[in-house]
Amino acid sequence: MKEKACKECSRLTESDVCAVCKAPTSHEWLGYVSIIDPERSEVAGKLNIKMKGRYALRVR
Ligand SMILES: [Zn+2]
Repeated sequence: MKEKACKECSRLTESDVCAVCKAPTSHEWLGYVSIIDPERSEVAGKLNIKMKGRYALRVR
């Protein structure tokens, strides 16, 4: 099953609504990053990610 990305926080999920911010998710996303340690990750800082998990790089 293809995952969807949250339109707010870009978090990848299989549900229609993001579990974190309750925003709707989208099938239209490109690329992803796995954030294991948001405190130390440069990418997490750029994308404003504070929780570990997998995030889409671009969401439409
Ligand atoms: Zn979200």
